[in-house]
Formats: sequence, structure tokens, C-alpha cells
Amino acid sequence: MKKILSFYFYLFIFTSFLTAQPKPYVLLISFDGFRWDYANRGITPNLDKMKQNGVSASSLQPAFPTKTFPNHYSIITGMYIDHHGIIANHFINPFTDEVYKLRDTNAVRNSKWYLGEPFWTTAERQGIISASYFWPGSEQRLSYRHPTYFERYDHHRPHKTSVNGVINWLQLPQNVRPHFITLYFHDTDDNGHKYGPNSQQVNSAISSLDSVIGYLNKKLTEIKMKDSVDIILVSDHGMTEISPKKVINIEKILKGFNYKIEGEKPFLLIKPRGYQIDSVYNVLKKHENHYKVYKRAEMPDYFHYSENPFIFPIIVVADLGWSLVTNSSLKKFINQNSKGNHGYDNHQLDMHGVFIATGPHFKKNYRTGTVWNIDIYPLLCKIFNIIPRSNIDGKLDRIGFILK
Ligand code: AMP
Ligand code: ZN
Ligand code: ZN
Repeated sequence: MKKILSFYFYLFIFTSFLTAQPKPYVLLISFDGFRWDYANRGITPNLDKMKQNGVSASSLQPAFPTKTFPNHYSIITGMYIDHHGIIANHFINPFTDEVYKLRDTNAVRNSKWYLGEPFWTTAERQGIISASYFWPGSEQRLSYRHPTYFERYDHHRPHKTSVNGVINWLQLPQNVRPHFITLYFHDTDDNGHKYGPNSQQVNSAISSLDSVIGYLNKKLTEIKMKDSVDIILVSDHGMTEISPKKVINIEKILKGFNYKIEGEKPFLLIKPRGYQIDSVYNVLKKHENHYKVYKRAEMPDYFHYSENPFIFPIIVVADLGWSLVTNSSLKKFINQNSKGNHGYDNHQLDMHGVFIATGPHFKKNYRTGTVWNIDIYPLLCKIFNIIPRSNIDGKLDRIGFILK
């Protein structure tokens, strides 16, 4: 009996060995502010190849507000912004007056701001070594909340250095080599703000990022990993044209009231001092022209932006292309002469990003409609065959059909 049992035991081990799938390799790449249509301008030969060999969506729907940190964190946690806690690039904890802002490295590395579980943590808990060549939230100080390998954000790091860094990680010995890696490039966002989404400068940034993909493919071929790596290219949001002629001066409308303001020109969070919520709301409602005003509790469900206690009681969302200003920010706005912005209603197509994916797990030459960025986390879990957190907002059902 013992002999028969051990025969079946060894047979089981042998067949599991034969059928065991190799652990996938996935690169998740973000081009900041790369609007959905930038890959359709006839200037992206490398992205065109990716589309032919893989899956492309007509757009990637971000979460509200359509800003960099909130959306990168939605992509990596599979959660709406009011659930993962990074409610803006800059916000305040109204109970303690502590501030979170993307330019404050101390705050950005402090895990107390970050709710939800980033994919790299989900992966590492389940035996997948991860790495990040930049991603908002990847530099958290707590050791179990950052990937095994990560780089501190450097806005001026040359693109090739970043790609070479990733290639070096992929050549580490098998037992310490990361299988999930993020990469991030900012160029389309910078140029979109300065010159607008339809400028020559944005087209140059698009071409330059396209050639980063060409360089990455060349290096992957050199290390003989081109056919074994999945590449998922995303962006955090799009970009729209703005003008100093399309401004709403909130300070003029709220003259005589005492309040705190957070947020940026496309959306503002307002906290009236004392018991003035209704009166401030009523005045803003009366002047509601080129913007929409909401009480936090009455924010329409489709924004998914009412549950986090740090969101101020009144939310103002500018119409596409309009800017909400105060006396001082208006002066700055005119001096800066910015031509593009994002942060508006996430259902506006101009705020949508890009989604292209290729590699062994993806269907070939498969074009689909809009997909949602919160669904990327469960997609990654499916590729790695690991268990997602149960409290996410993303759904594999909405995106799983792009896999083979
Ligand atoms: P925004 O366009 O205001 O939503 O933010 C874009 C800016 O975020 C970029 O130009 C970068 O300077 C900054 N940024 C992006 N990723 C990071 C990061 N991981 N750490 C710090 N800053 C970042
Ligand atoms: Zn961004
Ligand atoms: Zn931006």
C-alpha cells in the first residue's frame, strides 16, 4: 500500500513539474498625461507595432479627480480615489492640519496616507519579487509597503538610464530577479501643460516616448527576453486646452465668507469655517456657470468621490477647459501662460488615457473599447495567478477578455 501511495506521490510531483507554468514577467509602463488619441497621430511606429501584436483600447478611463498621484495609485491598488486615500496631488488632513503633497518627499514616503494595497505588495506577499523604476507610492518607508527594488523619483533621469536599470533587474540571478516592474516617464504631461495637447512640442514628446519603447524592445531582444515579457502601457489621465480667458474667480463669488481651499484649477475642495456650509454652497449654486458645485454627501455616485473623510464638504468641478482661480492664483496663471491641464470630470474623453498591452498573455491585434484603470490591478493578479484583495473596486469581468 505504502509503495502504491509513494508511486502516486512521485507521479503527481512529476506531472506538476511538466505542467508548471513559468512565472510571468510584466512591465507596467506609465506615460504621464498621454491622452488616448496621442497614439493615433501617425508618429508612433513602436506603439503601432505593439497594437498589431497585442491589445489596444480606444481609451483608458481614469478615476476622479484626473490627477497624477490619485490615478497612479488607483491603477496600482484597483481602488477608487476616495477608497485608497490619495484624494489629490495636494491635500490636507482636516483633523490634524497635516499636509500631503507630491513635492514633499517626507509626506510621499509616509505610509499613513496610503490606504489599500499596491499590487507590488499583493505580489510580494504571494512570492513574486517586484520592482519600481518610479511610481507614486513606491517609495513608502515601511518595508512591506514598497517593492523589493525601487528608485527614488528623479524628474531629470535620462530615459535610457531608466530602461537600462530595468534591463539590469531582469538580468539578476533567477532567485532574486523581479517579475513585476513599473516604469514612468513624464514628458507628455510637462509639454501638455506648457504648450497644450495639440502643440508641436507635445508631438515631439510623443515621438520621444515612442522611441523609448523602441529602445526597450531592442534591449529585451538583446537579453533574449522579448517574447517572454508582457508590456502594459498606460497613462494616468489625458490633457485639454485651457485659456486665461476661461476663468472663474471663486474669491469674487465668495466675497465675505471665511473658508479654506484645496485642489487645483479644474477642481476645488472648499471647507467653510464655522457653520457656513449651506450658505457657501447656495452662493456657489446661484453663480453656477462653467462649473458644477456639489456638497460632498450629494456628489453623484459616478464620481466615486464622497467617502473619504479628508474630502472637504464642498466640491467644485470646472467645465472642461475652464479654470477655477483666486485673486493670487489668477496672477500666477497669467504669468505661467499654461496651455493645457487635467483634473476635470473623468468621463470627459479629453481626460482619458492610453491602454496598449502586448506579450505572451495578451490576444493579438485585438482592439476593444474603453477600459477602466481600476481594473488593471485584478488583471495583473490574473496574469500572475495570485489572489487579489477582496476590498478592491476593480473587476476582472470588465477587462479579462483581453487575455488569451
Ligand atoms: P500633475 O501633472 O500635477 O498631476 O503631476 C505631474 C508631476 O508629478 C510630474 O511632472 C512629476 O514631477 C510628478 N511626479 C510623478 N511621479 C512622481 C513620483 N513618483 N514622485 C514624485 N513626483 C512625481
Ligand atoms: Zn499625470
Ligand atoms: Zn499634469
